[in-house]
Amino acid sequence: MIQLKSARELETMAAGGRILAATHQHIKPALQPGTSTLEIDAMVESYIRSHPGATPSFKGLYGFPGSACISLNEEIVHGIPSAKRILKDGDLITVDIGVYYGGFHTDSAWTYAVGKVSPEAARLMEVTEASLWAAIRETKLGNHVGDLGAACEAVVNKAGFSVVRDLVGHGVGAQMHEEPQVPNHGKPKRGPRLQVGMTIAIEPMVNAGGPATKTLADKWTIVTLDGSLSAHFEHTVAVTAEGPRVLTTLG
Ligand code: MG
Ligand code: MG
Repeated sequence: MIQLKSARELETMAAGGRILAATHQHIKPALQPGTSTLEIDAMVESYIRSHPGATPSFKGLYGFPGSACISLNEEIVHGIPSAKRILKDGDLITVDIGVYYGGFHTDSAWTYAVGKVSPEAARLMEVTEASLWAAIRETKLGNHVGDLGAACEAVVNKAGFSVVRDLVGHGVGAQMHEEPQVPNHGKPKRGPRLQVGMTIAIEPMVNAGGPATKTLADKWTIVTLDGSLSAHFEHTVAVTAEGPRVLTTLG
């Protein structure tokens, strides 16, 4: 069942989303060669907890050990923070963060460049972010969930990259993962109809090579099967009568 949120609940989620957006801003300067992904995770956790009532959603979720999922290069999602993973010049790093605040979760991931990345990596980041905004623009009344995926996929296909199909976006609220599923591919006018008060995490994951994935032996990290680079951009977005409202933003 899709859980619709009241106007008041949306304001609570927006307050949590502001903390989340500020967390991304807080860690950005630390994403430099020589920093470990465990150090970044510690920064995420302490910064979130410095806001009274806020906790990192991912810590312990399904048994995940970190406060953030931190994935490098060919890793798509669910990378485990580690003291042994040291950032180096040219890496792509995806930091996926959830904040639990006032009884609600928000969810936002961003891919960043460490130092100077290859032209292909830079283009992959640009295209993936553009595909997120294309889907957000379709998050309006009269549309269905399939309109979001179709818009996202069109941007990615035009660029010659691949949308990951094994992983999808999701409803988000009192639970981190709620209905409906929000695929990053699809057909217009298919899937659940958008309604006022729906809150969804839209999160295109885009591979420079093929769309296939595999899970590593740690049972968490999901990587591209062909070893190509992957990027991931995610916002939590509310459907309102006035159009899409991005909740995971400073504004
Ligand atoms: Mg996320
Ligand atoms: Mg998500």
